[in-house]
Amino acid sequence: MTEKLSNEWEERFRAVEENYKRICDGIARAAADSSRKPEEITLLAATKTVPVEVINHSIALGISHIGENRVQELCEKYDGYASVDVQFIGHLQTNKVRQIISKVSLIQSVDSLHLAQEVSRQAVKAAKQQDILLEVNIGREENKSGVLPEALPELLEQVAVLPALHIRGLMAIPPADAAKSETIRFFSRMTQYFIDIKNKSMDNVNMDYLSMGMSADYEDAIRAGANMVRVGSALYGARVYR
Ligand SMILES: *Cc1c(COP(=O)(O)O)cnc(C)c1O
Repeated sequence: MTEKLSNEWEERFRAVEENYKRICDGIARAAADSSRKPEEITLLAATKTVPVEVINHSIALGISHIGENRVQELCEKYDGYASVDVQFIGHLQTNKVRQIISKVSLIQSVDSLHLAQEVSRQAVKAAKQQDILLEVNIGREENKSGVLPEALPELLEQVAVLPALHIRGLMAIPPADAAKSETIRFFSRMTQYFIDIKNKSMDNVNMDYLSMGMSADYEDAIRAGANMVRVGSALYGARVYR
């Protein structure tokens, strides 16, 4: 590697270190604001487009959970990851479930019975218990992944009985263009669904994770009740798509 190139890596590593510290401080602050301990909040690093070298540097710093959102990218990078909990957070096509089933601890983006059935089928084949979150289209956006809030109770019941699947919580991505106050309302509504479902104590449904909040709003999400935030660009810098 040329000197210039290695300097660029060094600079990127230093930036990730500073960003990581800032995010940890932000999580601690927001956790305290909502009377929780920082350890109760899981920071999931959203690693799309991020080179494995940079991901592994962040793992050395303390990142313990990462999420990819494209099947092909996850499969290409998978063998290069240092020891880390790998999750899937993107839109998942049924015909690609097979490729990730042995690789991920949690699929955060299950939003239909059809997809859940395929995850269940592949989990049975792989002889594993697959943890999933149900993704909710909280902003009711057209062309956006996620089940509509009013369809969530029925989907929960249908998915909870599938073999080799375990529902561990909910995930949401509020509209990107929403004002801050509106985003906070979406987060609060998700927390209400999360608590309502938790109080129902359904078989095979454990509301352990409420995954919401990204680079721009993870502190707001935690204050509203999130216990998992998915942070990409605030940790790794702006994404470069190639
Ligand atoms: C990319 C991505 C994130 C992180 O986005 P940032 O704004 O860069 O923090 C979170 N969740 C999902 C599903 C993503 O695809």
